Amino acid sequence: MLKSKGYPVKGYYLNLHFAHQLGMPVYNKLCEKRFLIGEWLFSHLLFGENPKNQDYLNHFDSYMEIVCQSIDRPREFLTDVKTKMVPEFLQWAVEAGNWGQYDVIGFSSTFNQNVASVTLAKLIKEKHPSVKIMFGGSNFESEMGLEYFRVFPWIDFVVPGEAEGVLVPLIESLENGGKPPKGVVYRKGGEIVFEDNHEMLNDFSENAVPDYDDFFEQLQQIDPHSPLLENPIILYETARGCWWGEKHHCTFCGLNANTMEFRSKPIEQVQADVAYLAQRYDSFRFRFVDNILELKYIEGIFGEMARNNFDLQFFIEVKSNLTKQQIKSLAHGGANVIQPGIESFSLNQLMAMDKGVRPLQNILCMKWAMYYGIEVNWNILIGFPGETNEDYRNQIDLIRLLFHLPPPECVGDLYLERFSPYFSRPEEYGVTIKAPGEAYSYVYDSPDIDLFKIAYDFEFTSENEIDPELRSELLHTAQEWKERHQSDDIPYLIFTKSMNFVTIYDDRTAGNTVKKRLEGPSAWTLLFCNESAKSMDQIKEHIRELGVEEESAAEKAVQQLEDMGILYGEKGKYLTLALPHNANL
Ligand code: SF4
Repeated sequence: MLKSKGYPVKGYYLNLHFAHQLGMPVYNKLCEKRFLIGEWLFSHLLFGENPKNQDYLNHFDSYMEIVCQSIDRPREFLTDVKTKMVPEFLQWAVEAGNWGQYDVIGFSSTFNQNVASVTLAKLIKEKHPSVKIMFGGSNFESEMGLEYFRVFPWIDFVVPGEAEGVLVPLIESLENGGKPPKGVVYRKGGEIVFEDNHEMLNDFSENAVPDYDDFFEQLQQIDPHSPLLENPIILYETARGCWWGEKHHCTFCGLNANTMEFRSKPIEQVQADVAYLAQRYDSFRFRFVDNILELKYIEGIFGEMARNNFDLQFFIEVKSNLTKQQIKSLAHGGANVIQPGIESFSLNQLMAMDKGVRPLQNILCMKWAMYYGIEVNWNILIGFPGETNEDYRNQIDLIRLLFHLPPPECVGDLYLERFSPYFSRPEEYGVTIKAPGEAYSYVYDSPDIDLFKIAYDFEFTSENEIDPELRSELLHTAQEWKERHQSDDIPYLIFTKSMNFVTIYDDRTAGNTVKKRLEGPSAWTLLFCNESAKSMDQIKEHIRELGVEEESAAEKAVQQLEDMGILYGEKGKYLTLALPHNANL
């Protein structure tokens, strides 16, 4: 943005150096781990003298076992990284950029980048006191940014919201000695000044196409053989906010803070930017970083890609209530991985979390995504307020029928996230917020910091009590599902169709492959409910049209298919679970 306004700007990707030093596989694994481990590893210079910070490894002992196993390193390795490697890296980093040549240095802090960024900022400020230090990014959103600003005096400016509207005016104010614009936190005579500007980015036309030149140049210098250089994945933002969340905020979702209103780029801009980025960085692979896909892109972007037979590939996040036709358009347009926010196969839980989808829609999405060769990334979330043993039982029984579909990556406990309805209206859901997430006090070990103000996740209790055996059964079932798909015995449930019969091949249960021939109403029902769910009245009508007058024929057919576990019924609608063998649908 600043570059496109004529300001000289350089981006530094110091994390590339650190990842290269640590080894990319270890770095990537640590990035995914819980309990702020990435933050703790960088916390030695700021908080390493303090007792809880020193006790981190002991306190999270059993989890550290898992971490060490996953990276195949002993526990001492983590201590060495924290107390030796990271301080040396930071000392290197403070010399690496010749920082004194800049007027302003901005840090964009997201996920576990916070302590690293704040510590480097401190070291830079100590060496170059005249350089202005600016922070933004999701770790500095709202109250969190204000608190970090209060406790870290070496930060000169914080933008605790969307920065597009204030960045250029802020730099102009520094040039001409004027007052920083609204929407920026700064100090004046020792006082902290902040006036919210309540402005959201609504017009993307000013947004320049992302500039990754510095990233690829630095990566090339650090590791010319890096796999990241070969057909790299280009990150691209098409939209802000969430069109579902602005009407029905999913109760657990802490994304988007105060900017939930959905705003998307015009189709022409996305097309032009993608074309430019593919050419400039010689890549066919894109990851749209949006929370949810703008529906008009299905035809406008992916339809256009398909009509032109382009070979670009896209990762996208979608809502799962897509039709078969929409999934087909996405697949033919290059969407090869989707994240549909499935979260659960419990009807009650999906309703309680205001997700706006039911298990049936989740199944339909996974079935057609699989059919069209789209990888589906999803998890099961548990630990919701109000969940019951019956919800667990129903979910376990249902997912046993879905073993032929893509398995979840994991079953994870709900995080109570800042900005979510559980956080802002806990009493409505029977939730009691107890404390900031457990790791905060072990990382940011300082009495000066109000951890409630900086935490993104929180410890909580709710009234429900789930039978531990049911919980364990759910975990085991999901694990079995995953293992089957990683084995040579990948489960399947398909049907082949002839003129007057249908054959089912069912290998969902290991060691029990079933082949079954269906004719008449049961075969017709299976075919009729294949593309989308149908009501009993629609099924009856269909069977009558095919010449069977008997009133109960449809009900019997539905019952037979349900008993076989190849038709799923929910709230009077029925969907065939089996995938068609025919490849031309
Ligand atoms: S979970 Fe997804 S669909 Fe729900 S509000 Fe958040 S971003 Fe939107």
